Amino acid sequence: MHHNYDLILKGGRVIDPAARLDGIRDLAIKAGRIVAIETHLDPSLATEVIDVRQQLVIPGMIDPHAHIFRFITGVLGMDADWVGVQSGVTTLVEQGGVSAATLPGFVEYVVKAKANRVHAFLAPYAAGGVGGFSYPDQFTPGTIDIEATLKAFEAHPKVAKGMKFWAEQASLLKFGDASIRKVRTIVDEVQVPMYVHMGELWRLPAEVHAQFPAERVMETILPFMRPGDVFAHAYTDRLGGFFNADGSVRSLVRQAIASGIHIDLGYGAATNFNLVRQGLEQDFLPQTLGADIHAYNTAIKDPHIDTGGRGRFNGHPGVAAGMNLLMAFGVPLEQVIPMATCNPARIFLREQDGVGTLAIGAAADITVLDDLRGRWRLTDTANDEVITERLVHPSFCIKNGQYHAANSTLLSLPEEVE
Ligand SMILES: [Zn+2]
Repeated sequence: MHHNYDLILKGGRVIDPAARLDGIRDLAIKAGRIVAIETHLDPSLATEVIDVRQQLVIPGMIDPHAHIFRFITGVLGMDADWVGVQSGVTTLVEQGGVSAATLPGFVEYVVKAKANRVHAFLAPYAAGGVGGFSYPDQFTPGTIDIEATLKAFEAHPKVAKGMKFWAEQASLLKFGDASIRKVRTIVDEVQVPMYVHMGELWRLPAEVHAQFPAERVMETILPFMRPGDVFAHAYTDRLGGFFNADGSVRSLVRQAIASGIHIDLGYGAATNFNLVRQGLEQDFLPQTLGADIHAYNTAIKDPHIDTGGRGRFNGHPGVAAGMNLLMAFGVPLEQVIPMATCNPARIFLREQDGVGTLAIGAAADITVLDDLRGRWRLTDTANDEVITERLVHPSFCIKNGQYHAANSTLLSLPEEVE
């Protein structure tokens, strides 16, 4: 018998913020494309039907802050499909592990080899994240090769989508704005965004803090940022973040947001619940949910990588975890779905085929989430906690029409409470 469709996802709550769609629908896929979204599609027209009643059907989730150059970037490099399709995430943006020098290797051994859709924001420094960002001496302007980086963007425009930068006291003290100046030159030339890590990266000696206080980092960096660039780690409790000591959002951050600079969650060990609370009271919210999963940001370790026992995060990493975090503090589901879908597509990838939307004709990248009710305890590294009564949890995803079960061991549920 002839089938019109390869697959129908039947009866789910289909939410596509880009199309302002939110309702119970059947969604049909053929030849890797979304071909119909209707209130009723005849199941006999499909080769396969998956019952998704009581589940959420959203555009394939996008993680704009991934570390997936496995075996190259030390304890930070995770298997792309592990943090990706096996965790319900169809698109990953590697942040800063890949440099112009290592991009060809990344394309060959990650982009082409893995099921996920994979992009990268390049490290400016020649070594990229080799060895896991453990060597501050690699972060020197002398290793930023503008010509080589421009060539890398030209050679791999579909993979290289922006530049990573670490706003970091020690190098600012030593070299002033020499590094960020070079990065600005590159991103202006290629017309791509810059993603800037905020918060102390390494424990620095007291004399560095005395000579270059953490508060000065943003003052120094901001003149080099433009609308469309992104600050990472919204609620970091490391020095040099987004808050004043009294918990108010820094006025420079307000100015940055007003000028069109975006904020990414960059959820991890440094994410502080008290800052989440205070930030939300002041309407300080991320637009995207970078998961930043690496050995320090998950208790689940890659058995093939020796982490030396490091890692202190007791949270539950992932893009869905970012949604759960914000929902636990009162942000509605309808507001967090765009942060995982159309927002990162627009901000990091400049909208492209099939990413961040369920548009008819687009490549079929779809995430299906369980929408759970109960009582769970979320905790941060400071052992602060919040009880939440709703969790979204990846069930499966479709990437380019291909089914992937969300069976990653990273996807544990938080502790259930009475
Ligand atoms: Zn990171």
